Amino acid sequence: MNDEIGFDRFGLHPDVLDGLAAMGFRKPSPVQQQAIPLILDGRDLIACAQTGTGKTAAFVLPLIDHLIDLDDRHLSALILTPTRELALQIDQQIEGLSYYSPISSIPIYGGGDGALWDQQHKALRQGADLVVATPGRLWSFMATGNFQFDRLRYLILDEADRMLDMGFLEDIMRIVARLPKERQTLMFSATMPDRIRQLASSILRDPAQVSIAVSRPADKIEQMALQVMDDRKLEVLLALLAEFPFRSALIFCSSKDKVKQLHQTLRKSGVMNEAFHSDLEQQVREEIMRGFKAGRLPVLVGTDVLSRGIDVDNIDLVINYDVPPDPEDYVHRIGRTGRAERNGRSITIVNPMDLRRWKRIEELVGRALPWTERPLCGWIGSVPKSESRGSSGGKGGRKPSYKKRSK
Ligand code: ADP
Ligand code: MG
Repeated sequence: MNDEIGFDRFGLHPDVLDGLAAMGFRKPSPVQQQAIPLILDGRDLIACAQTGTGKTAAFVLPLIDHLIDLDDRHLSALILTPTRELALQIDQQIEGLSYYSPISSIPIYGGGDGALWDQQHKALRQGADLVVATPGRLWSFMATGNFQFDRLRYLILDEADRMLDMGFLEDIMRIVARLPKERQTLMFSATMPDRIRQLASSILRDPAQVSIAVSRPADKIEQMALQVMDDRKLEVLLALLAEFPFRSALIFCSSKDKVKQLHQTLRKSGVMNEAFHSDLEQQVREEIMRGFKAGRLPVLVGTDVLSRGIDVDNIDLVINYDVPPDPEDYVHRIGRTGRAERNGRSITIVNPMDLRRWKRIEELVGRALPWTERPLCGWIGSVPKSESRGSSGGKGGRKPSYKKRSK
C-alpha cells in the first residue's frame, strides 16, 4: 500500500472528516475515490459497483458537504432506494457521517400500520434536509399533493437495478416528473443492464461514469461448491456449519416456504437461527436484524430479500442451500460476506438439476469455481461419485455438532 489515499484529498468540510473518523472510515474505497470528486464537481453520475463496495458513503459524503453551508436545505435531497431495510441503513449512515454537521434526514418506507403512515406524513410535512425513501411509499405521499420537492437540488437513485427488478420504474418516473429539472442526479447500481442505461439516459444529464469491475467477490471471498443430491442437503449443511468456523452466517433458500422449513429443521438440530423473509412484520425483521448484527444470533436463513444491500459486517460464511436462478443474485448473496476489508467464504450446494444454473454463475463470475468435498469426504452422496462411496446414510462420517460461538 504505497499509494495510500486518505479522505482528506477531497477537500471535504472538517465536520464531514470528523464524521468519517467517528465512523471509522480511514481510506476511501475505489468507488468512493472515483465518484466523490465528480459529485463534488456537480456532475451527474452513473456508478456501477458491486454490493458492499461503499456506494452509500460515495454519495452521502459529497451530499453532506454540499448541504452543510446552505442556508435553505429544506427537502433539498432525495435518495430513492428499493427496500425499507436499505432506507433505514442509509438513514443511519447519514446520521453517523453527519454527526458533527447540522444535517437532518428522514426515512420513508412502506409497511407498518396507520400510525407509521401518520408519523411519516408528519415528518415529511415538517421536512428534513434529506429524504431517504422507497419509491412506492413516497409516491403515495406525493400523490396526495400535500407536499412538494420544489426546492430539491439532489436526486440519488440507489440500487437502481434492484428498484427496477422490484417494479418501481413507474413510481420513479412519476416522482421524477414532479422534481425540479435543475438538479444534480446520481445513479448507483450493482449491475448495468440495458434498461438501467435507458433509465439513466432519460433522467441524467451528460453523466460522468464510474465503473468498478465486477470481479470483486472473487478477491476476498473464497467461493466453493458441493455437489449433493437433494435428500442429503440437510446433513451436508449441518456438517458445513460444524466444520467451518464462523461468527455470523447466512443461508439462502430459493423460496419463503423452504426458508421457513429449514429454519425449523435447523432449530430442531440445535442450530440457533431465525428465518428472514418478506412475510414477517417489519418490527420482527428489525429485531432479528439487530440480534444478528450484534452477534447474538449466529445464523439467518433467508430468501433473496437478504441478499441485497443488508449492511452487516462480520458475516464470514454464506451458504447457498439452493443455487439462485439468477446469476446476479449469486453475486449479491455472496457479496454479503467479505465486506469492507474482511475475508469471507461462500459455499453453494448444487444438486444435479442445478448444474446448468451453476455454469451460468461461473460464466458471470468469469472463471470455474472449485468443487469441494471437504469436510465430508466419504459420506456425502456427491455426484457423480456417489455410486462409488459408502452410502451409509451419513452416519459413518463426522457427526455434525453445533456450538454457538462466543463473542
Ligand atoms: P454498497 O452500497 O456498495 O453495497 P455500503 O455503502 O453499504 O455498500 O458499504 C458496505 C460496508 O462498508 C458498510 O458497512 C460501510 O459502513 C462500510 N464502508 C463503506 N465505506 C467504507 C470505508 N471507506 N472504509 C471502511 N468501511 C467502509
Ligand atoms: Mg448500497
